[in-house]
Amino acid sequence: MATYYNENTILYLNGEFVKASEAKIDLYSQSLHYGYAVFEGIRAYKTLAGETKIFKELEHFERLKRSAEAINIYYPYSTGELIDATYEVLKRNNLQNAYIRPLVFAPANMSFTQNTESFIAIEVWEMGRFLGDKLIKVMSSPFERPNPKAFKIEAKATGHYVNSIVASQDAKAKGYDEALLNDINGFVAEAPGANMFYEKDGKLFTPSLGNILPGITRATVIEICHELDIAVEERLFTTEEVKEHADAAFFCGTAAEVIGWESLDDIKMKKDWNDTVSKVIQDAYKARVIEKEFKPEFA
Ligand code: PMP
Repeated sequence: MATYYNENTILYLNGEFVKASEAKIDLYSQSLHYGYAVFEGIRAYKTLAGETKIFKELEHFERLKRSAEAINIYYPYSTGELIDATYEVLKRNNLQNAYIRPLVFAPANMSFTQNTESFIAIEVWEMGRFLGDKLIKVMSSPFERPNPKAFKIEAKATGHYVNSIVASQDAKAKGYDEALLNDINGFVAEAPGANMFYEKDGKLFTPSLGNILPGITRATVIEICHELDIAVEERLFTTEEVKEHADAAFFCGTAAEVIGWESLDDIKMKKDWNDTVSKVIQDAYKARVIEKEFKPEFA
């Protein structure tokens, strides 16, 4: 098992900074029993100038708020207050390159009723910079992403991640690095915890919003494409299209950053990763998170 904290680790809990080893939750929490909580996955980086910077902090904390509102979780927090608290937790743990996990959860409640109270924890642990030279073997999953009429798919709610866990474990048990899930209509959706893009003739394609989590990294990739004049289109497509056409493909997410594919269902991507615009995007993203200027080689 991974270790996320030790005797000295501090987390933020309901306005206070407390030892992780002493923090408690209520075992009767509605969140624990029914997967009814919302969370975020955020990263902080040590910038080129040596500062600690939370990447896209506003976007992440605003999404946390929207996630809570989407599923009626009481949310009395302000984005500014949570950002300040996060910087303070990082400082108290002496971390610059870190993963940040805010979690908003419910009080004791064994029924399905709405609550008038919430709890919030912000946990941080060290996460070094990703090297990005490894390519992954992807498997199209027999599991589909949840029906968007059964879930608020745009909310980052804990219960949704049972789907992610079963799909990811299944792919790994079959010898692959990660799963690629379709939506309920048979179109490519996303990975268990990341969005996807594929590249053909220098142009990028990514599934449209609607059946996926609207990733902040996905939005950053689209932003980079616009800045570098790389064509990018949001539309629906199938795994067959990817297998037939993809010169390259990648997953992107806060934790994964931009990670290239070696293959999909053992069918290799057509181009060498180093000869793709996807690689340029990967380099641009790596530079952006540490506030380093980026000039692509093809420019
Ligand atoms: N899809 C899912 C299901 C995820 O869990 C994540 C990670 N939050 C993403 C996509 C990527 O989102 P982001 O770029 O905001 O981390």
